[in-house]
Amino acid sequence: MNLILLGPPGAGKGTQAKRLEEQFGIAQISTGDMLRAEVKSGSAIGLEAKAIMERGDLVPDGVITAMLAARVSRPDCAKGFILDGFPRTAPQAQALDAMLTEKGLKLDHVIELKVDDAALVDRIAGRFTCASCGAGYHDSFKPPAKAGVCDSCGGTEFIRRADDKAETVAARLEAYHRQTAPLLPYYAAQGKLSGVDGMASMDEVSRQIGAILSGKA
Ligand code: ADP
Ligand code: ADP
Ligand code: ZN
Repeated sequence: MNLILLGPPGAGKGTQAKRLEEQFGIAQISTGDMLRAEVKSGSAIGLEAKAIMERGDLVPDGVITAMLAARVSRPDCAKGFILDGFPRTAPQAQALDAMLTEKGLKLDHVIELKVDDAALVDRIAGRFTCASCGAGYHDSFKPPAKAGVCDSCGGTEFIRRADDKAETVAARLEAYHRQTAPLLPYYAAQGKLSGVDGMASMDEVSRQIGAILSGKA
């Protein structure tokens, strides 16, 4: 099963992608996580991407599509994948279609997480992750059961993203509305698009996604 989760920054794509990965044994592919790993390692891609990401702009399509093509060829994608944060532009969507056709694969569903811009600012401002296992948390909406200790691995170090600050969020939302939202009609025209209420609780969003995947939505 090959899925795209589409939605603005902070909509809950990563949260839901991780759940789907566990549920179906398909790979979560987050281009944002991949880019952050490149920045951390100081690779050529990382050096190019760092300042762009800090501004809240999009990394050039050529860099992203090359990175993604390599990623979907890895063995853990054999059962399928969940794209989280890709595609973000029309050229990326076209490159993905070409890539899938070439591999004899198809997209099963494109799921839009619909969230108001005002709610996104709070979601992003409160977001943090476990430094050891990557589990996602939120100051108000999903704090660890025991403060300062990761529910999943017991880790005690947490990370906040450099671009998760109020100044950058506006630029990222602008990039979403201008460059990514036009993909919604593109996938609607392919008959692949379904929407879920991203303002609902995490469990309710998971339930709505489950209904789409089982054809009951
Ligand atoms: P969020 O989950 O908040 O939407 P991501 O982790 O997906 O953010 O992306 C963080 C940043 O990485 C983006 O603001 C952008 O600079 C860059 N990025 C990630 N994916 C892409 C992509 N598909 N195309 C261009 N830039 C990307
Ligand atoms: P994205 O990958 O789309 O940028 P995330 O999955 O990282 O979004 O979620 C952004 C923040 O909002 C995280 O701190 C996460 O714990 C929280 N969050 C995710 N889904 C919900 C939800 N349905 N209700 C409240 N908070 C949520
Ligand atoms: Zn952890």
